[in-house]
Amino acid sequence: MTFRKNRARRFASTAIGHASAFAPAIFAATIAVVVVYVATNWRLERSLADERSIVAGELAIISSRLQTNLNSNVKLLQGLAAGIAVDPAMDQSAFAKLAAQILQPDSQLRSFAAAPGMVVKWVYPEKGNEKAIGLDYRKNEKQRDGAMLARNTHNVVLTGPVDLVQGGTAFVARCPIYINDGRSQIFWGLLSGIIDIPRLYQDSGLESAELEIAISTVPEPNSPKQVFLGGLETFSKQPVVASVDMMYGRWTLIAVPKGGWGQQNGIAAFEVFASLLGLCVVAPIVWVGFLTKSRQRTIEKLRLHKKKLVRARQRLEHLSLHDALTGLPNRRFVDQMISRPKRPGPKDCLILIHIDLDRFKAINDTKGHAGGDAVLQATASRLTNLAGPHEVAARIGGDEFIFASWSDTPELRANELAQQIVAALEQTLFIDGSECVVGASVGVAWEAECLDVRNLGQLLLNADLALYEAKKAGRGRAAIFTKELRSAAIQSKELADEFNNALDCDELVAFFQPQFNANTLDIAGVETLARWDHPRKGLLGPDKFLGVAESLGRSGDLDRLILQKALFELARWDSLEMRIPRVSVNISARRLAQANLLAELSELPLARGRLCFELLETISFDDLQPVLNEVIPAVKELGIEIEIDDFGTGHASIVSLLRFEPRRLKIDREIIKPIVTSQSQRRLVSSIIEIGRSQDIDIVAEGVETMEHAKILRDLGCHLLQGYALARPMTSKQLIEFCRAKDNCVTQAM
Ligand code: C2E
Ligand code: CA
Ligand code: CA
Repeated sequence: MTFRKNRARRFASTAIGHASAFAPAIFAATIAVVVVYVATNWRLERSLADERSIVAGELAIISSRLQTNLNSNVKLLQGLAAGIAVDPAMDQSAFAKLAAQILQPDSQLRSFAAAPGMVVKWVYPEKGNEKAIGLDYRKNEKQRDGAMLARNTHNVVLTGPVDLVQGGTAFVARCPIYINDGRSQIFWGLLSGIIDIPRLYQDSGLESAELEIAISTVPEPNSPKQVFLGGLETFSKQPVVASVDMMYGRWTLIAVPKGGWGQQNGIAAFEVFASLLGLCVVAPIVWVGFLTKSRQRTIEKLRLHKKKLVRARQRLEHLSLHDALTGLPNRRFVDQMISRPKRPGPKDCLILIHIDLDRFKAINDTKGHAGGDAVLQATASRLTNLAGPHEVAARIGGDEFIFASWSDTPELRANELAQQIVAALEQTLFIDGSECVVGASVGVAWEAECLDVRNLGQLLLNADLALYEAKKAGRGRAAIFTKELRSAAIQSKELADEFNNALDCDELVAFFQPQFNANTLDIAGVETLARWDHPRKGLLGPDKFLGVAESLGRSGDLDRLILQKALFELARWDSLEMRIPRVSVNISARRLAQANLLAELSELPLARGRLCFELLETISFDDLQPVLNEVIPAVKELGIEIEIDDFGTGHASIVSLLRFEPRRLKIDREIIKPIVTSQSQRRLVSSIIEIGRSQDIDIVAEGVETMEHAKILRDLGCHLLQGYALARPMTSKQLIEFCRAKDNCVTQAM
């Protein structure tokens, strides 16, 4: 639906775009059409008027010529009539003579007929007109009316066209002749003049090539009979009109251009011209419309392109702020949220809960990456389910999550959330059809006051500290950040700084604890133990600084330093002839993995068997296998003995430990401690001793706190003893004293 609506909207907006781009063109085109139409009409009317006036002028010339010709013919006729009136008794020859004088060659008059008493008596010329002689007008139907009219009106009457007795048609002008006898006018007769129609027409210009002319005897004829030149239909063609006065009566002359009006007006050319002119105006506007349209299209394209870019950027932005596996916001998101907090309410404080899955690594190792991914996805969805408005769950690392919330009662909400999260993540999961429980440790921190945004960065560290605390206290718990945690953290930070300094300022000292032959109680060796001679706190044991050294990555440096000190003291004891067979040093995994270890060791001036490395069983022998495979044989090659320390506590397999063929195994003091009271513990020690014997490995017992321990261990077959019962860790100076004292006294029998 939305898609369709969008399409319709887009279509509508495109249509509006089209319309708006071409609106000026459409407007201009309309104006142009109207202007062309009006101009053409105006031009048509004007040219019609012009044409009419031209035709009217031509017709006026024609009608005046016709009038003139008729008049001159009438004049000639009247001249002849006057001659007759002077001599009414003349004969045919006298008449002919007179008529010949009057009838000029260029006249339209063709002949005369004199009819005294209305009967034609004389004709001129006689030839061809003989038939007319004897014609009695009174008896001739066609000519009687005209003849009578002339007689009665005393005027020249023009009739015609008349069918002549002698043949043909012509106009006939009849002039009545009256003779004055002194008293009255006596009608003598009629003198007729035959006017040659074609000639009259030709001379008057009626045979015009351009005009269609008609003449009627009445102004508005309605019968063809009334029209003697041209046709009746010409009268319906809006002709121009002129008239010719016929003494008695009047002719109506009309004319239209041949082919009708408006043939020669050039209106078509004008139309073409006007249209071209209109086109010249409209075309650029249309062109501009096209340009505008194409610009609009380009803009539209750019807009779409920009939209796409914005969407792509948003997608990228989303990707960069979210975790691909779980879809949760990521670390960057949390950092941004903390650096630019949007407090939902003015009194709302930020709560951050740092979550770390307890058994994720184990599941990842056993179920593979797909299993690990399933755990993370399930965790994400469980956390998301707990999130209310203004709360967000984010994945910030491998198996680490953050849950952020805003509340105006942060303590209450934080505690509630922490319990819910621990409970939710403790629920059983099904992976590959088998049940597993992951569990999580949770560290909680919230803003004490919601005022200072700068403290928000610290909040994450606080939640971190609390998480660390939760893990220390055992897994599957929530810990809440406190000021004490902070100060402990600050202290450990201080300690770290001081330890760095201590290494450089030689504040670390070596203590030595002798080891004794179980049977003879002779000193069989000494173990070197690190101490920190702290300027303010006094002498600190390794439990106070080993963790710091490890976290600073300086435990290797520590071991190197203690080794130097041990060897230095060994040389000193030798020089004092104390007969201490060997010195042991504890060695960390980091030191073992140091690239320059072997090179450094090979530089040492050492007799074989005088130095021993104690390797903690907790060093991950399995993880470090590749390094150890190379290093340990090389170390042994240099004449340095290898002893496995704290045997029985770590998780390394006995098989992998024995593969290094150590010179000794040192049983951990936690195993030794209960042997006095526990039979089973004694059996355990006994079996370790048995293993050692079978592999030709000496067994050392540490934590020998009483002579009872010493006796039992000797009886079990232990080779060496180390413990407070025999000697505490001491300085080199104290050791020298110890040895001297020992030499002086006789060893008490056990
Ligand atoms: P460790 O190697 O097992 O060292 C023996 C620890 O047991 C020493 O503690 C020693 O004081 C203590 N001890 C000796 N006899 C008795 C006894 O009868 N009863 C009891 N309860 N304890 C006894 P210390 O000196 O505090 O050392 C602790 C651990 O620190 C050592 O355990 C060793 O793992 C580590 N360490 C000491 N010095 C160094 C060093 O230079 N480098 C490295 N990497 N670790 C060292
Ligand atoms: Ca040790
Ligand atoms: Ca030990």
